[in-house]
Amino acid sequence: MAALRAGRPVLVGGGTEYDVVLPAALAEPRWTAWTVRHTSGVLCAPLRAERAGALGLPPMVHDNQDPRSPRYTVSVDAAHGVTTGISATDRARTARVLADPASGPADLIRPGHLLPLTVHADGVVGRPEHAEAGVDLCRLAGFPPVALTARLVGEGVGTAGDEDVALLAARHDLPVIQIPELVEHRLRFGDGERGRVTRVTNARLPTVHGQLDAVGYRDEVTGAEHIALVGRPRTSVPLVAVHAECITGDIVKTTHCDCARRIAESAAVIAQEGGVLVYLRRPGARVLDALDGHTWTTADAGAAGAIVADLGYRSVRLLTGPATALQLARPDLTVLAVQNRPVSSLT
Ligand SMILES: [Zn+2]
Repeated sequence: MAALRAGRPVLVGGGTEYDVVLPAALAEPRWTAWTVRHTSGVLCAPLRAERAGALGLPPMVHDNQDPRSPRYTVSVDAAHGVTTGISATDRARTARVLADPASGPADLIRPGHLLPLTVHADGVVGRPEHAEAGVDLCRLAGFPPVALTARLVGEGVGTAGDEDVALLAARHDLPVIQIPELVEHRLRFGDGERGRVTRVTNARLPTVHGQLDAVGYRDEVTGAEHIALVGRPRTSVPLVAVHAECITGDIVKTTHCDCARRIAESAAVIAQEGGVLVYLRRPGARVLDALDGHTWTTADAGAAGAIVADLGYRSVRLLTGPATALQLARPDLTVLAVQNRPVSSLT
């Protein structure tokens, strides 16, 4: 992020190939020329489909013959302030025009020397490819979601491999990030514009276990609405229990799993001692999935950690459940693991 904010490139790896990524908003001649020198020289500008629409950039081909190929739009140059459009200076200028929120269709001429392409609306979470990574990195760094990217090539005939890229990165002091790392970051911390979760409701909730406060959260990745049940007593290092929706366990208390027992014990402990029970909803789950075992994903851990942090906790003790302390921990949240205790021992 620091490199991008300083207008320096990040090298993004995925599969066996690497892209140079710059925020289009900060594109300037020096690093654009550097990018041309170390890549295929074909500069692309990944952006969102709605941005392409607003700038009057239709798809390059209407009947894309390769579903895996990038979705290029017509090529462009800036309408003003460029000469032929091909130089690094001109292409940097065109990239800045694409990123400028004030730009409109009349600020570009078609065809040109920069190739915009549209990305998946969910970024790397929806499609883990280089173009999506470029746009996501720009958003995370706080820039308009338009990137300037190009594929790195090696000294020989092919694209650059891991060793070439490590050398290049070391020589120019550039960070290297792999697309799966970026996906994990998105699933844990959000996209840079919205938080990972958004608080949507708040209600008092009398229960058989005692008084709890229910706080509803919208999951900005899955769209699910999760619920946090907060106990009234205040403690310095509160307890946290995490439960993932299990229809057969939660509703009919199936004996196939211990969800019913665990959620009842957790709610009782939280009501008596304070802390929070995070209940994660599963909008896409099939009813009988739970009979075959319970899934637990990075997205689940990211949502649970974000909810606990949003509630203002900075240090918590995690009761036994699907989440590990390591998965839940964040820079702003310290998580210690504790074993569940039978409820009866509390009285
Ligand atoms: Zn279950």
